[in-house]
Amino acid sequence: MHNVTLIKGDGIGPSIMEAAVAVIDASGAKINWHLAEAGLTAFEQTGTPLPEATLASIAETRVAFKGPLTTMVGEGFRSINVELRKTYDLYANVRPAKSWNGVKTRFENVDIVIVRENTEGLYVGLEHYLSPKKDIAESLAVITRAGSERIVEYAFKYARDNQRKKVTVCHKANILKFSQGLFLNTAREVAAKYPDIEFDEKIIDAACMHMVMKPEQFDVVVTTNMFGDILSDITAGLVGGLGLIPGANIGADAALFEAVHGSAPDIAGKNIANPVAVMMAGVMMLNHLGEHEAAIRMQNAIEKVVNEGIYVTPDLNPASTTGTKEMGLAIIAAME
Ligand code: ATP
Ligand code: MG
Repeated sequence: MHNVTLIKGDGIGPSIMEAAVAVIDASGAKINWHLAEAGLTAFEQTGTPLPEATLASIAETRVAFKGPLTTMVGEGFRSINVELRKTYDLYANVRPAKSWNGVKTRFENVDIVIVRENTEGLYVGLEHYLSPKKDIAESLAVITRAGSERIVEYAFKYARDNQRKKVTVCHKANILKFSQGLFLNTAREVAAKYPDIEFDEKIIDAACMHMVMKPEQFDVVVTTNMFGDILSDITAGLVGGLGLIPGANIGADAALFEAVHGSAPDIAGKNIANPVAVMMAGVMMLNHLGEHEAAIRMQNAIEKVVNEGIYVTPDLNPASTTGTKEMGLAIIAAME
């Protein structure tokens, strides 16, 4: 029995998470779900978007399965996702994007894993105005050797453990000589310890162009926080959109699994959101928990239903009338 904190989240969160939990429970893995609140729903109920009880639950279970959270607009409200990553030092954000046979896109053989540094860079929250008129603003990007080392180590270990052949570091060290230079140099040092894995370097702007022209040349990609944020939306687009891409946030002693997409309030409450991204996050979570058999069973069932393209949500097949919940039931029925 594994203890997992379950945060259903905002917008489309509850419906996709309920579908995903049903599929996980049917996979054979035994999960003891600890229900917790966060985001806009939590803010409206308790006055805080990240209640103590939720933090305590994750501190205890060390594993969270989380739906998308709406960050309140306005000064003073910091992103809850960023807050959670910081609190548990979830330094590695792993976002795999793989082509699906049944999802038509421009490319057929995309199989890229973005390993994004999740705690440093431009997302450290050091921002201020430099003038009383607020017409000059400064945002600081912080890069450390230790932070760079552990994320690049993570990428190489991931490559080795998952039979991957190549790690590409994406950077802007030609312009940002200090911060990005430190990241690149550290990456080179780490790479030297993994002679069995091919190492490649690309400047981020060139990497973006290569990615949309010849995505097959990328395997594992490691990069700093904001570049990773942007690159992973590119990879999502390459394989069929945000509704398909899971993300794992991994730290030394806690991990959080979620979809890459947000709470999509425009389609909330309509039972049309695609649950595949959070379900694939569930597969990553089962693997993290050592439930490899259940993970494969679940992944095969998701792939079968998505590739058949019949019982899928309208974003995947505009002619389909299958809802979020019904797609989940089709996946459970497809389980062997
Ligand atoms: P947030 O402010 O929480 O990021 P958002 O509306 O920006 O919310 P995104 O994930 O960025 O949410 O989604 C952008 C758009 O992509 C959504 O408005 C929605 O139309 C579509 N989308 C996102 N996720 C899904 C999904 N799971 N299924 C179907 N469509 C989705
Ligand atoms: Mg968004």
